[in-house]
Amino acid sequence: MQIGGKTKVCGLIGNPVEHTLSPLIHNHLAKAMGEDLVYVPFLVENQNVEAAVKGAYALSITGLNVTVPHKSAVIPYLKELDPLAEKIGAVNTLVRTEGGYKGYNTDMSGLLRAMKSEGIQIEGKETLLLGAGGASRAVAFMLGTEGAKKVYLLNRTIDRALAVAKEVNEAVGREVIIPMSLSEYKSLPGQKYLCIQGTSVGLYPDCDKAVIEEPDFYEMVDVAVDLIYKPADTRFMTLCREAGAKAYNGLKMLLYQGVIAYELWNRVQVDESLCQEIYGKMKEAVKV
Ligand code: NAP
Repeated sequence: MQIGGKTKVCGLIGNPVEHTLSPLIHNHLAKAMGEDLVYVPFLVENQNVEAAVKGAYALSITGLNVTVPHKSAVIPYLKELDPLAEKIGAVNTLVRTEGGYKGYNTDMSGLLRAMKSEGIQIEGKETLLLGAGGASRAVAFMLGTEGAKKVYLLNRTIDRALAVAKEVNEAVGREVIIPMSLSEYKSLPGQKYLCIQGTSVGLYPDCDKAVIEEPDFYEMVDVAVDLIYKPADTRFMTLCREAGAKAYNGLKMLLYQGVIAYELWNRVQVDESLCQEIYGKMKEAVKV
């Protein structure tokens, strides 16, 4: 591309940022859509979050993605917060507005778009959610907001599950999240559930692990999404498939969180065919 005086700059702030796929998503989108835009990762240390957000605004940067560990730390330095991001308490996209950035959470709208694209229904579903960390907390909000009937939130540290359940149930106004320890799945009614794997167990390079190993757990699953996308087929996904369930990884969530951010920055709608083209490139890039 030809960088000139009118080239818009977008980027990612986080720590680390070396292995990010976001430049692949955004630079490909810009090229395909004829947008004069370049996307760059910026390594930002914890103590520099305020300076990074204010400095980016001063440099007329159009938009930023935010990744770990800064998704909550950026919030005090924003001019405005989208209501969903405010509820979740985490922001992954900053959109330039008059006087400062507005924060959004496109991780959750990205997961929702990814699930819809696979034909996975949430409304009225009984759901198992493994994990109560940053990502699972946001998934719990999304499932509650999208009308899941019940969400059994299973986590190694029960106190963390209790805290997420309390917060989400208050925010969505119903007792939708039921906190449990990992082994308590044995007490659940024997039926088929939608299952979201939101722990970091099984993430590359620890690919031979799953947060629950017992085969009887997987008998309860009919469709599953692992938020992990590296490796492309996690042990959790393999155990689901061995028990006859459908299982998807988190790569489409990553794709769509980026696509939605791009749409917010450029006020455009990205074609599904272009999304699929980029998805193909991402699959190549994460092969291990
Ligand atoms: P996090 O805040 O560090 O939470 C980690 C979670 O994993 C906690 O629930 C933790 O349980 C659990 N855990 C870790 N080690 C465990 C073990 N040995 N046994 C049982 N549980 C264990 O991480 P996060 O930010 O939520 O991210 C979680 C995963 O989601 C990561 O793999 C990340 O790559 C993925 N993710 C994907 C996308 C995407 O776009 N596809 C976006 C965001 C995140 P305790 O509470 O007991 O410690």
